[in-house]
Amino acid sequence: MSSVATRLQPFGTTIFTEMTALAVKHNAVNLAQGFPDFDGPQLAKDAAKAAIDAGHSQYARMFGVPKLNAAIAGAFSRRMTTAIDPDAHVTVTSGCTEALPATFLGLINPGDEVILFEPFYDSYRACVALASATPRFVTLRPDASGRFGFDESELRAAFTTRTRAILINTPHNPTGKVFTRAELDLIASLCRHHNAIAITDEVYEHLTYEPTLPHISLASLPGMWERTVTLSSLGKSFSLTGWKIGWAIAPPHLTSGVRAAHQFLTFATATPLQHGAAAVLENPGPIVEEYKSLFRRNRDVLAAALTGLGFRTFPSDGTYFIMADHSAVSKRLGATDDRDLCQKLIERCGVAAIPPSVFYENREHGKAFVRFAYCKRAETIHQAVHRLNSLQ
Ligand code: PMP
Ligand code: GLN
Repeated sequence: MSSVATRLQPFGTTIFTEMTALAVKHNAVNLAQGFPDFDGPQLAKDAAKAAIDAGHSQYARMFGVPKLNAAIAGAFSRRMTTAIDPDAHVTVTSGCTEALPATFLGLINPGDEVILFEPFYDSYRACVALASATPRFVTLRPDASGRFGFDESELRAAFTTRTRAILINTPHNPTGKVFTRAELDLIASLCRHHNAIAITDEVYEHLTYEPTLPHISLASLPGMWERTVTLSSLGKSFSLTGWKIGWAIAPPHLTSGVRAAHQFLTFATATPLQHGAAAVLENPGPIVEEYKSLFRRNRDVLAAALTGLGFRTFPSDGTYFIMADHSAVSKRLGATDDRDLCQKLIERCGVAAIPPSVFYENREHGKAFVRFAYCKRAETIHQAVHRLNSLQ
């Protein structure tokens, strides 16, 4: 009998922990869990080390070290017409992973409905459960061009009188979708009409590859600043996933909810790392553009190799993930679903990927897909391709 609380029992161990452990066991190239295999900027590391040497070792201010709040507000202000106040609007959290439950626990009441797009990043579904809320799902499906989108009537039908919030992740993990302005306009109009709040997860905000599909913050749309909590973090943009520096940006009436929970979840985030984060956000230089060109090239190399092997790949316009339909390959290999395929890829070729069915409420909907991460050195991607080619 499990002693895990009933609200968390359905979720088990995350797929990222499971697949990384399998990758280590089989010495596989890990294209499963999304983390780069190279270090983040020297500037950030030097500033964090200097902060330790300067004695910044005690609790940080509950909602963030002032210079980090200022750097986050400065960067976000460039997208907004509303002035962003570093102290009134920005809360520093321990990664976006903490910002999510802080937002849910601080702003959602038991029984409230929350709309999620599926496939969803796994922690959203758990956050809904932690907040004793009720999830409503809108499914993203590939259109004729392979880009994932949603059905307008399905989205309209998901809003009810009990809708408290909708969560939008753009650029989207795991599909690589970047929500278009037209899609965000529709979401915004439904939020305004139903008096719902929007929670946006923008951790891949800087990782977009198509000039015609830029990242747009929902909070920048008319009437949305007042009703949006914008979440993001340092990890993906600056190759510092282990630092766990994230943030929530919102008007004071929503920030008060986020902080009400944050003060009891972690109270504050590691002080020296906040100093390191501030240094790189104040002075990002060309590093993000360099990562982006590497990721774009990796994406193209991996997509071409997967297509050559019989996968149907979907356009990855943002993030550092690519989704593919593995049906034809699985038929050849005798794999029964996405989990079975991932097991076979690790054992037969030494390449780890993520089975995305865990990101669907009805797992059947995701079992034809597989997700690969391409946030790696070019050599790593070449090695993975070389290994995958043994499937031929
Ligand atoms: N949201 C999404 C969509 C993610 O892919 C991740 C990946 N880690 C997170 C949130 C968590 O962000 P962080 O590492 O800053 O906690
Ligand atoms: N966001 C990362 C991914 O999607 C994993 C984060 C984690 O391990 N929790 O691969």
